[in-house]
Amino acid sequence: MSQIDSLPPLRDVIETHELVARKALGQNFLLDLNLTSRIARIAGDLSNTDVLEVGPGPGGLTRGLLAEGARRVLAIEKDHRCLPALAQISDLYDGRLQVIEGDALEVNPLEHLTPPIAICANLPYNVGTELLIRWLTPKEWPPVWNSLTLMFQKEVAERITAQPGSKTYGRLAILSQWRTDARIALTLPPEAFSPPPKVHSAVVHLTALPEPRYPADAKVLERVVAKAFNQRRKMLRAALKGLAPDVEDRLVAAGIKPTERAEQVSLEAFCALARQFEKT
Ligand code: SAM
Repeated sequence: MSQIDSLPPLRDVIETHELVARKALGQNFLLDLNLTSRIARIAGDLSNTDVLEVGPGPGGLTRGLLAEGARRVLAIEKDHRCLPALAQISDLYDGRLQVIEGDALEVNPLEHLTPPIAICANLPYNVGTELLIRWLTPKEWPPVWNSLTLMFQKEVAERITAQPGSKTYGRLAILSQWRTDARIALTLPPEAFSPPPKVHSAVVHLTALPEPRYPADAKVLERVVAKAFNQRRKMLRAALKGLAPDVEDRLVAAGIKPTERAEQVSLEAFCALARQFEKT
């Protein structure tokens, strides 16, 4: 295995710092530095970019990002046991790595970064979707970040990139594809991690669009989509009952048959429907 830096192999780092993986923190570590460099490259040219990394753990992806030339990495890690290993990386890379000990759900380190900003993370499974939704729904669009390169369970990655008609098509697909170009860039088997998780994983790359793909009010679109998929097997005229007294008329005005089900409706049609519900 080729070296990407002069630091010890990750297996040794984990042993030295006694980083026994904790399930409650979603700890499945990547040990192959060639693989973490490959993930960093999916994020694109980082030489002029500040990177936010959530959950660096022993620092495999962090080392990949720095070796691939990230201008600066700001990493937020909840597990204090990882801090000494991360401090060694910071020493080698001469101030390009800054680590915050904390919970990514409680602190928002994006404000400490200078655009252009990329977010890159092998996310803890228990908070991954929540963080993605927050990054996709800022107060203003375009967001402060240009791209997200994120590892998820494969099933979640498929929900992000799903197309109408598939079982995985739903709120996450609409939210992601409305404002970003989203693609699965890499799929990994459980053995790529230590300890191996039960399921396959996948890296999703999302690039922020300068403006949403179709016009709609974000809050109205979210409300309509959440209600539509809450009872995804029901016809839309029933699933959307309660949103307005004339649901059927609004569906027809948006070009949607009231008897259709949410999973058959395209993103464009959902945006047209949201515009109908913006009217009083
Ligand atoms: N990036 C490392 C890698 O690729 O090997 C570790 C990835 S591991 C799947 C997830 C990491 O996120 C762990 O280091 C865990 O301690 C950390 N973590 C879990 N919950 C967190 C939270 N709420 N905020 C910040 N870090 C968290």
